[in-house]
Amino acid sequence: MSPSSSDFLTIRHPEPKPLAHPPVYPVFLPFIGCSYRCIYCAQDVQTGVGNRAIAPGSLRSLLFKELAGSEPVELAFYGGTFTALPQELMLAYLDVAAELRQAGLVSRVRCSTRPDCLAPEVLALLARSGMDLVEIGIQSFDNDVLAASGRGYKADAAVQGCKAVRASGLELGIQLLPGLPRMTPAVFARDVAAAAALAPSVARLYPLLVLEGTALARRWRAGSYTPWDVDQTVDALADAFLTLWRAGIRVIRAGLAPESTLDDAFLAGPRHPAMGQRARSLALFRLLEPALAAWQGPVRLDYPRRFQGELWGHRGELVPAYAALGLIPGATTPHPEPWEPDCFRLSAVEAPAGKLPD
Ligand code: SF4
Repeated sequence: MSPSSSDFLTIRHPEPKPLAHPPVYPVFLPFIGCSYRCIYCAQDVQTGVGNRAIAPGSLRSLLFKELAGSEPVELAFYGGTFTALPQELMLAYLDVAAELRQAGLVSRVRCSTRPDCLAPEVLALLARSGMDLVEIGIQSFDNDVLAASGRGYKADAAVQGCKAVRASGLELGIQLLPGLPRMTPAVFARDVAAAAALAPSVARLYPLLVLEGTALARRWRAGSYTPWDVDQTVDALADAFLTLWRAGIRVIRAGLAPESTLDDAFLAGPRHPAMGQRARSLALFRLLEPALAAWQGPVRLDYPRRFQGELWGHRGELVPAYAALGLIPGATTPHPEPWEPDCFRLSAVEAPAGKLPD
């Protein structure tokens, strides 16, 4: 490409726009419905609520008090295998959600579960009882990884679980765990592509950490499990973001939420306070890289201000990589609205602030 002064190139960021959904209000029910504890799982420390699941009656009292006077929320039953609960208990939790919905305090409901606990009659019951979205802890679609991680199901069941949720009319969420035993970045990339092909509404990516008290901790101490490192994980997540965004899928979380109990239990693995930002920044770099590499002559970049915290990476870690492609911080302009929200524009001339070149 050999631009004249009027040449410019527009690159659109592929991340889907956020939906106008209410904020998620998580209700953690640790290990509820789980028939055994998975090798890496420490819901009690991951969620900071300990080992005991709150009973439906107590939950009702708590939420009517806590949510009173606030905007409606999306109630999320997390931390266990919700669809494997005894039916009476499941319906009791859903009744609480329905009462809160009737009172105008809840406008959506979601739950998390495993892919092998999604019988059609249970999904039909959820759909009838006000559930909107089911998040499945798929973790991987690779049979070797699933076997080495003791997940107790195969890739076919993972795919069928996703299809069953969509067939029941419920929205689908998929969770993946990069770094599971026997998982390589190439396997994770295939997992991400498989997830994208199943068209979930949302995805979560939880790089695997070694936490005290888990079977994985014993394997790590025995030297039979090595976690991914931070850079490898950021690299894999960046590609995953791009694949999922390009398929129209929102990535609603990358990495576990910070919890003081998690700090205490953390032993090893890719944990970084800015993991998501680092991965998003690297994804943006990879989006712009081909155009910058092909650009000849001086280049400047105009971009939406909302990406200002991502462009140069965490603490400017991507500045040298951009400089190697001819882009330096002094040749960039962040634009407030009405700049197009997803538009990055390379040009040989300075664009007027706040306005796209014609
Ligand atoms: S099914 Fe989910 S919540 Fe239950 S032990 Fe396994 S990872 Fe933890």
